[in-house]
Amino acid sequence: MLDTSAFLAGLNPFVSGEEQITTPKVMQEVKTNSLIQLRLRTALKHGILTVKIPSMDSLAEVNVAANKVGDSFFLSDTDKQILAVAQELKMSGYQPKIVTDDYSIQNVATQLKIEFCSLATLGIRSILIWVRYCPACYREYAPEYNLKECAICGTKLKRKVKSNPEKGTS
Ligand SMILES: [Zn+2]
Repeated sequence: MLDTSAFLAGLNPFVSGEEQITTPKVMQEVKTNSLIQLRLRTALKHGILTVKIPSMDSLAEVNVAANKVGDSFFLSDTDKQILAVAQELKMSGYQPKIVTDDYSIQNVATQLKIEFCSLATLGIRSILIWVRYCPACYREYAPEYNLKECAICGTKLKRKVKSNPEKGTS
């Protein structure tokens, strides 16, 4: 299971021997980086990478777990898709492992008893700093900011990578 940060940090699906799965939303989020997109398309074509859509049931289970640990605020729809697909795989007897540096994903994965590992354990040392921002007035928000909407104009916040080793991903 690969989240957006894994791909943006330069994870190459070809170097790992294991079957890799991601979700439609992750594919959407990496669209802005043509190099990574090309890499993923090639991986898809060769069957190294699979895109899976989670069921409503597994998404609901993720929401329950996220509420329990108080992380719902910090999970994007993309994060929830990743957790939900992992939950589905687990229920079908697989042992999915989520590759992510996102603490909220890790926290909810622990609650769901899903394994995860950070990018560093895969030898990827670059650290991504996510920043939440308002797409309307471009105000940036600290991680402690507890609301999903912009305090100034009420627009739903988005997140982007603040520092990135690969160019062109904002
Ligand atoms: Zn705003």
